[in-house]
Amino acid sequence: MICNNLSINEQGHLCFAGIDTTLLAEKYGTPLYLMDENRIRERCRTYITAMKEAFGDKAAPLYASKAASFKQIYRIMKEEGMGIDVVSAGEIYTAVSIGFPLEHAYFHSNNKTDEDIDFAMEHGIGYFVVDNEEELKAIDRIAARRSIRQNILLRLTPGIDPHTYEEVATGKVDSKFGSAIETGQAKSITAFSLSLSNINLKGFHCHVGSQVFDSDVFLQSADIMLGFIKEMKDSLGLHTEILDLGGGYGVRYLDSDPMIDIAENIRTVGAHIHKKCADLGIALPTIHMEPGRSIVADAGLTLYTVGTIKKIPGYKNYVSIDGGMADNPRYALYKSSYTVLLANRATEDEETFTCSLVGRCCESGDIIQENITLPANTKRGDLVAVLTTGAYNYSMASNYNRLTRPPVVMLKDGTDFIAVKRESLADLCANDL
Ligand SMILES: *Cc1c(COP(=O)(O)O)cnc(C)c1O
Repeated sequence: MICNNLSINEQGHLCFAGIDTTLLAEKYGTPLYLMDENRIRERCRTYITAMKEAFGDKAAPLYASKAASFKQIYRIMKEEGMGIDVVSAGEIYTAVSIGFPLEHAYFHSNNKTDEDIDFAMEHGIGYFVVDNEEELKAIDRIAARRSIRQNILLRLTPGIDPHTYEEVATGKVDSKFGSAIETGQAKSITAFSLSLSNINLKGFHCHVGSQVFDSDVFLQSADIMLGFIKEMKDSLGLHTEILDLGGGYGVRYLDSDPMIDIAENIRTVGAHIHKKCADLGIALPTIHMEPGRSIVADAGLTLYTVGTIKKIPGYKNYVSIDGGMADNPRYALYKSSYTVLLANRATEDEETFTCSLVGRCCESGDIIQENITLPANTKRGDLVAVLTTGAYNYSMASNYNRLTRPPVVMLKDGTDFIAVKRESLADLCANDL
């Protein structure tokens, strides 16, 4: 099995976090998002422990909320002592609603409106991660009106291509995010921040991409960022307190994907950073990382019920399910890979047929995965499991075709409970006048 929270029981049913998924489908219906809470906590602890060992007590991982954002996630992050990244008033509102300490929250986004900025300050956001000069001016202006001095980090683009998908590469010079070091814009926004009386520049942030397996990417970006910090020390007398290296560690969607040892990777990055700081003659800043996907991805699994099976002789076969791009748009967006199997007959694979797993939306692009193999006798009513859906599935879900969003059921210590209710038809019309 691709991940050790999966197993198959004597009846040939797929179990997740030790619980028979067919029983969960019966109890809650499909489509159904399942999340293994213990796995999420385990991943948080891996980051916290490794980062403290590598960088000392102040170092902290920040969970990138956008991977999966709902109240129970923020309760877990609060209990585990994680900081969080947020990108909207909606994520802030959700975190605040369970009493998440917002001084440990970092507000990202390449376009924060004045209303967003005001809302975040109203709730005592810890830091803004500032994308550009216009935003900086707005934050300074709104902070002045509120008579506060706002802590910020500046988002910089170190100019690295992380060799992952184009759509999720964010650290290149021509990215829509941040200020580029190469063009001199990073230095000029740094100097500008220091001139503003309601801004407290605490440090720098970079994020080079997602689904990164190569620790080299983090070593390279650390080198560039530390070099920049040294330059700012020499030219502007700036003491940088925080360096945030971003998120992006990869997860396994397929058996063929590499396995990554996050703790070992962080140790490597840690040793490298200590040496680099010593070489440059600068103090070690507080190091942050912002994992999203690698915290929640393999803690998630989606169950669907098979409906129509269409065989077009000489062409292809389709297996349609009761969900699709509305609950998982990642194939439509990026051609993302997923492992798919029958949850109610997980061991029957002697005779298989090749098919595309497609959703029920009125779009030809509504595909979950192409060229997968399922048992040859796959039929209406069978239960399909799509693995590793904990990140960027629920958080990207929509009501396209007026489909209701599935519930999120948490699995913890052999028990199951609803974290997010299934949307009702009435919910769909809640804002219609
Ligand atoms: C998306 C994002 C992350 C998290 O990336 P993952 O690949 O999910 O770990 C971290 N930081 C920033 C700024 C992001 O945009």
